[in-house]
Amino acid sequence: MLRVTFWGVRGSIAAPGPETVRYGGNTSCVAVQTEDDKLFILDAGTGIIRLGGSLMADAFGRGEGEVTILLTHGHWDHIQGFPFFPPVYVPKNRVTIYGPAHSNSIVEGILEGQMNPHFSPVQSLGNLGAEITCKAVAEGGGGEVTLGALRVRSASVPHGSITSLAYRLDNGGSSLVYCPDAGYIDGDPSDEVLSLFDGADCLIHDCTYTPEDGEARRARGYSSIDVTAKVAARAGVKQLVMFHYDQDYSDGDVDALAARCRTLLDAEAGGDKVELLAAREGLTITV
Ligand SMILES: [Zn+2]
Repeated sequence: MLRVTFWGVRGSIAAPGPETVRYGGNTSCVAVQTEDDKLFILDAGTGIIRLGGSLMADAFGRGEGEVTILLTHGHWDHIQGFPFFPPVYVPKNRVTIYGPAHSNSIVEGILEGQMNPHFSPVQSLGNLGAEITCKAVAEGGGGEVTLGALRVRSASVPHGSITSLAYRLDNGGSSLVYCPDAGYIDGDPSDEVLSLFDGADCLIHDCTYTPEDGEARRARGYSSIDVTAKVAARAGVKQLVMFHYDQDYSDGDVDALAARCRTLLDAEAGGDKVELLAAREGLTITV
C-alpha cells in the first residue's frame, strides 16, 4: 500500500491567488509513504516547502530524518522548492536525490546551479546542513532501482526540447506511476512508456491543457486531456489522477477540465472503467 499526498499540482510556475485556492497554486510535489514508513518525494516544486514544514515536527526536526527525492527533470517548476525545504538545513538529516542524467555530478550540478549566488543567498549545496547525496537515473529511462521495499522503474518521455522521466513505483501489490510532463510525438507514447504505465493502480499524469490550448501550444511539450484520456485507457490503468494544470487555469477552469476529461475517457475503449480524480493540494489517496 502507498499513501500518496499532493503538495503541489500546478505546472510551469506557481500560481497563488483567490482563483486557485481550491486546487492550489504550488508547483509539482507529491509525497509517497510506503507501508514500512519510508518517505519518497516526487519532484521538488514549490509544494515541497509546506511538506518540509510539516516534516519538521518529527524526525526531520531532530536531524534524524531520511528521505529520497525523485526528480523527473530539471525545469524550475520541479526543483525550485528545494532550497526552501526546511529539512535540508538540519544537520544529520539524510536527503538522497535521484534525477535524469548520465552521472551523479550532473544531477548535483542541476541543483547547484539554482544555489548560485545570483539566484540564492545560500550560494551552494555545500552550505546546507543535511547530508545531500545526488544520484543519476539513466537519462533515457529504463533504469531500475530497488529502494527498501520499493521497486522504482522509469521511462523517458518527450517534453518540448528535452525529455522528462516517468516513474513507476511498485510496493507489495500496489503500483503508482508519476508522469507530470509529457509531450508525446503526435500524441502517441512509445511502447516503452505504455509498458511502464501498463495496468497501474494509479497514474498521475500531465493534464496541462484543454484540447484547444494543447493544439495551440504543442511546442511547449505538455499533454492535453484528450491525449491523457487516450493513454490512460490504452494502458488499462485503474485510476487516472489529473495533474500539472496550466498556471492560468482557475479553479472553475480545472472543474471544467475534469468534467471534460471524464467524457473523453468514457469515449475511449475501456475508458469507462478508469476512475478519474483531479489532484488538488492537501489531497491524500491510498494506492
Ligand atoms: Zn513541469
